[in-house]
Amino acid sequence: MSDLLGQVYAAARPYLESLSTRPVQDGAALELLESLGGPLPAEGSDPGEVIERLLRVGAAAATTSSGPRFFHFVTGGVTPAALAADWTAALLDQNAFSKISSPFAHEVETVALDWLRSLFGLPTSWGGALVASATFANFTSLGCATHWWGARLGADTAADGLSGLPRMPVISSGYVHASARKALQMLGHGRTAVTVFARDGAGRADLDGMRAHLTGLGGAPAVIIANAGEVNAGDFDPIAALAGLAEEFGCWLHVDGAFGLFAALSPRTEHLVEGIERADSIAADAHKWLNVPYESGFALLREPARLGAAFGMPGAAYLPGPGDPASGYALLGSESSRRARSLPIWATLAAYGRDGHREMVERHLDLTQHLAALVDAAPDLERLADVPLCIVCFRAVPPGVSDLDEHNRRLGAALLADGRVYAGTTVYDGRVALRPAIVNWRTTAADVDLFVEVVRELNVALTIK
Ligand SMILES: *Cc1c(COP(=O)(O)O)cnc(C)c1O
Repeated sequence: MSDLLGQVYAAARPYLESLSTRPVQDGAALELLESLGGPLPAEGSDPGEVIERLLRVGAAAATTSSGPRFFHFVTGGVTPAALAADWTAALLDQNAFSKISSPFAHEVETVALDWLRSLFGLPTSWGGALVASATFANFTSLGCATHWWGARLGADTAADGLSGLPRMPVISSGYVHASARKALQMLGHGRTAVTVFARDGAGRADLDGMRAHLTGLGGAPAVIIANAGEVNAGDFDPIAALAGLAEEFGCWLHVDGAFGLFAALSPRTEHLVEGIERADSIAADAHKWLNVPYESGFALLREPARLGAAFGMPGAAYLPGPGDPASGYALLGSESSRRARSLPIWATLAAYGRDGHREMVERHLDLTQHLAALVDAAPDLERLADVPLCIVCFRAVPPGVSDLDEHNRRLGAALLADGRVYAGTTVYDGRVALRPAIVNWRTTAADVDLFVEVVRELNVALTIK
């Protein structure tokens, strides 16, 4: 066993040292993937050879999404403390199911959740659950909202489901993320349950439309989804105004703050999440801006008892039930047996502290403004949106090209094929655009400069063709 771990350890240093310079994707190395397939081995083979093969193919073919030049989606890296703690989690192989299955994992999760709550400035009465992702944080939060809504109608949806109830009204702005819809789909409401109120093509919230809609519901309970950090340009719904609506109409207010919640860490951006403590639930990711490994998200609840009400699992005689002091986080979320994903969160918060995380966020705010300035200075590029946080939404505007959408789609594809840096395309206010996001602790100004250089180089190459 220790020889195998030695093999991994030996591979770690060169891999980690290459992160800052290797291409995001080596297309040629993808041919190696074939060597992992074939029929299931009947007899197996030497584990040392197996791990050697896995490391050789993995190190060559891996997408360098934990490196500093991956600007696609919203993708964090892994801090040294988080990586070492993640290895520790694998080593100890704890089941963070209950206080019996692992008092250690239970306690670390309790501390990690309390530190996250404190990091974002939420009151001590808040609680939460660590989950696999922001999708599952949305699922967990909207699961609690569903139970709340059912109770308002005199039903217990955790026991009896949705049958016989009307459809749960959900409203949001045009910023609502696909994963919130997916969460509603998984909860049985269907992804079309959301009614969108947008006052422009970018998707900004139409507060008057929302108010009229809520008035029309005549007092029926409803859910408002506020978006703290949308994916095209990093913009925010007016959370305090939505909290005001929620309070006036007795709605559940859920905030999707997958990465935008981290605006709370800096005095420069905390105004963007003003009023968030008036929400009922908040979903966020740790594997994005906290820079811990996948799979790591969290849901924070103003009334943490709602987690147990929605996700409790009574009725198995061999398990501690809800309210039993031996029960644990399995009864406070969708999973039962689960790894100790709290360890990297605990370690990264312990190692770098509140100040370290504020400094990292502010470094990213500066780098994002640097990127915006480079875009603004380039005659062949056009910024399409303000830059409130960590995303710059822009497109190439080469002279003489009539179909700019088609051109920018090709530019996005060329960027991925080139592989030196990665960013994705989107459609912002009807226009195809690139939307690089900066949330990796390793990213420097030189990486941002390289990104703009590569984009401009490919833009010229495409225009000449
Ligand atoms: C990334 C993201 C999600 C989904 O997060 P996963 O971790 O991929 O499940 C949800 N909402 C927003 C705003 C996001 O940026």
